[in-house]
Amino acid sequence: MRAMAQAFLDRRGVENPRLEADLLVSHALGCDRLHLLMRLESPVLGSEVDRARDFLVRRGRREPLAYITGHSEFYSRPFLVGPGCLIPRPETELLIDLAKDESKARSLGRVCDVGTGSGVLAVTLVCEGIGDKLLGIDLDGAALEYACRNAKSLDAAVELLHQDGLEFLAGAEPFDLIVSNPPYVDPAVVEELEPEVREHEPALALFAPQGDPDYWVRELCALAASRALNPGGLLLVELGCDQGPRALSLAQVAGLEARIVPDLAGLDRVLWARRRA
Ligand code: GLN
Repeated sequence: MRAMAQAFLDRRGVENPRLEADLLVSHALGCDRLHLLMRLESPVLGSEVDRARDFLVRRGRREPLAYITGHSEFYSRPFLVGPGCLIPRPETELLIDLAKDESKARSLGRVCDVGTGSGVLAVTLVCEGIGDKLLGIDLDGAALEYACRNAKSLDAAVELLHQDGLEFLAGAEPFDLIVSNPPYVDPAVVEELEPEVREHEPALALFAPQGDPDYWVRELCALAASRALNPGGLLLVELGCDQGPRALSLAQVAGLEARIVPDLAGLDRVLWARRRA
């Protein structure tokens, strides 16, 4: 079954067919990969074969692995994910590292995660002890359901709001830290995305509004500089790798002290912008 599964995924263009075949078959058998390797000679039940086949067919249609297994890891913690929420990317962990640096330098009260999706940023910030009061906000109710489940399963006290983040910030009490991984993919490049992303992940979480990759950076900077941040407060926004120079100038034009932080691959990834004290 293992070799057949691998060959099937390979034919369907899945990138790591051997690993993914193992992960899907072990998920069907209810064990981890190590136990799968240990029980290779044991008989399997017909129902287990059916489950494995079902998972492999879904993966062959390029449904993301994380949607099939129902979980993904972020900052070494397990998060529930599924159709309707963006799967966390490793580079997004940089926002947490930067928030941690900030909380070492000064104490943080109110913290907001704008466009929280499955809640990875908001929940991880709580788990890492950053901020006194954490708020996660998203316009997408389906994604927020995952955030709610993740906050419960990781025992994180996060207040979740179902609302447009920009409208909310325009009327809310100011924050000491705002983090955001907004949609920044240019809809013009949709055909260049992998089918897992293009056909399965929520468009609302991926594609920049009005076809403008800088939309969220511009709006968040304007709000942060005028009212959404306390003086001295920090805004951290994830960027597409070609957005750095434009994001930096948008933040500076808004009056923020700003820099661009590269990810582990050396690509521009996060806008770090402080409201002057
Ligand atoms: N980094 C994600 C991707 O490239 C997009 C996430 C986002 O738009 N915030 O698929």
